[in-house]
Amino acid sequence: MSDILKDKVVVVTGAASGIGRAIAIGAAQHGARAVIVSDITETSNEGGRTTTSEIEALGVAVRFQRTDVSQRAQVDALVEAAAEFGGVDVMVANAGITLRSDGPDVAEDDYRRLMTVNLDGVLFSAQAAARQMKANRKAGSIVLMASMGGIAGAGMTVAYSTSKGGVVLMAKALADALGPDGIRVNAVAPGVIDTHLVRTNPGIAAASEGFRQRTPLRRLGKPSEIADAVAWLGSDMASYVSGIALLVDGGLLSVI
Ligand code: NAD
Repeated sequence: MSDILKDKVVVVTGAASGIGRAIAIGAAQHGARAVIVSDITETSNEGGRTTTSEIEALGVAVRFQRTDVSQRAQVDALVEAAAEFGGVDVMVANAGITLRSDGPDVAEDDYRRLMTVNLDGVLFSAQAAARQMKANRKAGSIVLMASMGGIAGAGMTVAYSTSKGGVVLMAKALADALGPDGIRVNAVAPGVIDTHLVRTNPGIAAASEGFRQRTPLRRLGKPSEIADAVAWLGSDMASYVSGIALLVDGGLLSVI
C-alpha cells in the first residue's frame, strides 16, 4: 500500500478486532518491519482469521502477546516483546471499552472498570513505550486512541466521554513531557466507525443511524480509515506533529 512505516516496529493494543486489528494489519501493509499484536484474546470478535495470521500472510514479522492493558506488568511485558526486533518505534494504545449502561447514573463498578482500560491502560502503554524509546534513544511515536466522544460530550456516555477526554489531554501533557527526547505523542479521535463495538452496544447502535445522517460524508467510517490516520501519525511524514487530537469523523463534529 505504501512504505511510510518502513523499518518501524509497531505495537498495537486491542488488536484482535475492530480498529486495532485494522491498525495492526495496516501497519504491515504500510511497510512496518515487525508488528506486535496484543489483546486479551487472540480471536477476532468479527470471526475470520486472526490478526496475526493476516499479517503473517503479508510476509511481515509478527508476534502475539496476550495483554490486559489494565495490568501494568502485562503492558511492560508487551513492550519488552518488541526488544527482539530492536524496540518499539510506534506504540498504538488502542484498547478501549464502552459500557452497556453508561450515562449520568453510571454504576460505580462499571465506571471504575471502564477507567482501568480506557485511561489506566492507555497511560501504562504510553509509559512503557516511552521508557523503552528513551533507553534506546529512539525518536518514536505514541498514538493514543481517543474518540469524538472525548471532544464533544454525549449524555448517554458520561463515563466513556470522560475517559476519552482524559486521553486527549494525556496526549498533550505527554507530548510536552516527551518532546525533548524526540518522542511525539498524539491522539486520534474517531467518529462512528463500523465495528463490533458499535454494532453490539444497544445504545450506540441505536444512535448510529442519526450520526450517519448528520455526518457530511453520510456514512460511518471504516476501521481502515482510522488505521491510515494512525499510520501517518506513526510515520516520519508527521515528524513535526505532536500533541494533537486528530478527528477522523467524516466531518461530523464540524457541523451543527
Ligand atoms: P472493538 O470492541 O471492536 O475492539 C476492541 C478490542 O479491545 C477487542 O479486541 C477487545 O478484546 C480489546 N480489549 C478490551 N479490553 C481490553 C483490555 N483490558 N486489554 C486489552 N485489550 C482489550 O472496539 P473498536 O470499535 O475497535 O474500538 C477500538 C478503540 O477505538 C477503542 O479505544 C474505542 O473506544 C475507540 N473508538 C471506537 C469508535 C467506534 O466507532 N468504533 C469510535 C471512537 C473511538
